[in-house]
Amino acid sequence: MMLSDRLCQEIDARRDDLIALTQDLIRIPTLNPPGENYREICDFLAQRLRGKGFEIELVRAVGTPGDSEKYPRWNVIARKEGAQPGECVHFNSHIDVVDVGLGWTTDPFGGELKDGKIYGRGACDMKGGLAASIIAAEVFVDLCPDFHGAVEISGTADEESGGFGGVAYLAEKGFFTPERVQHVIIPEPLNKDRICLGHRGVWWAEIETFGEIAHGSMPFLGDCAVRHMGAVMTEMEDSLFPALAQKRTDMPVVPEGAKQSTLNINSIHGGQAENEPDFNGLPSPCVPDSCRMVIDRRFLIEENIDDVQAEVMQVLKTVGERRDQFRYDVRELHRVLPTMTEKDAPVVQVVAKAIAATMGKEADYVVSPGTYDQKHIDRIGKLKNCIAYGPGILDLAHKPDEYVGVDDMIDSAKVMGRSLIDLLVKPEASAA
Ligand SMILES: [Zn+2]
Repeated sequence: MMLSDRLCQEIDARRDDLIALTQDLIRIPTLNPPGENYREICDFLAQRLRGKGFEIELVRAVGTPGDSEKYPRWNVIARKEGAQPGECVHFNSHIDVVDVGLGWTTDPFGGELKDGKIYGRGACDMKGGLAASIIAAEVFVDLCPDFHGAVEISGTADEESGGFGGVAYLAEKGFFTPERVQHVIIPEPLNKDRICLGHRGVWWAEIETFGEIAHGSMPFLGDCAVRHMGAVMTEMEDSLFPALAQKRTDMPVVPEGAKQSTLNINSIHGGQAENEPDFNGLPSPCVPDSCRMVIDRRFLIEENIDDVQAEVMQVLKTVGERRDQFRYDVRELHRVLPTMTEKDAPVVQVVAKAIAATMGKEADYVVSPGTYDQKHIDRIGKLKNCIAYGPGILDLAHKPDEYVGVDDMIDSAKVMGRSLIDLLVKPEASAA
């Protein structure tokens, strides 16, 4: 029997182990914010993988956003060396999950198994993917103890809040460099037959318009900052949004609506603050002297971040030409450059082949509308050979009654295991 067939058979045989592992991971509530139980889940993963012969490192991202004695940002890196020198394949999963929210019909931290699906917060995003990669790696090292190179599995903090206490920190510490790691697979829930090559860019900024406070009965004695912001929004509707809709990308972004530049107005705050919940009095009559708007601009690999900023500055300039006393300020809050791995990169080729062998269909290639930890691996680690590939349906992420299908986890574990064989087993060994 071929090695890959034996691997698939063994993954099937460990179905119950895969289910139990996924349930155990879901039952450790790693809510972020604030970043609960990171140490607990890292210890759980360390204990399991140490038992399989992996070397374990626990790394706390001291001083990163959110890190404190109460909520330390722990990460775990497990590494198994092969018998001979070769390349390192790294599976990176984030251990944090987002807020539960309303509308659940199952226990969000119960890990209930029903009709071949495991339910819970983080089931698809992305504890199911983490569990699948662990089973794939364990089966691989059991079947191929003489493999070349190394297999690494990491569980990292804070992906949902930017990844600064997780992959970014580890990349800065040298865990993701082309010298140490050659292939990275991030088992985010992108569907088991799709390879995610990268993501669009992000530019967040806060625009503030200024006015002058005065009595609300005599607004002509002041200057209304909210009206200035209204003019900004009108100009955005008239010129910016139509221009963004014209910018189409060759990136295979899903869903279809994200194949263009987008801008979301995240929030507007202007005038008096909202009443405290226990105060039911009336507001006082004032002309607002400040209005702030947070914008969330997602941009394409064909665009340049300087141009993205310049477009917004042009909107403000145009408004300023029409309005007296128009004063404003723009502050950048956050930026992420777009990233996209080439289709002919080795990890893409190998996973595509494994998808075809496992699923009997060609892989689809996608790009994510939002970002994930690939940005840090690319920008800080300078590691280009990186994709996201994992089980689960992306649309279920962050929703109530989130689940991951057991068959999907099995199939993607097979894809991951076949990829390990392809990358780390030399032909003479696989003939054995
Ligand atoms: Zn995720």
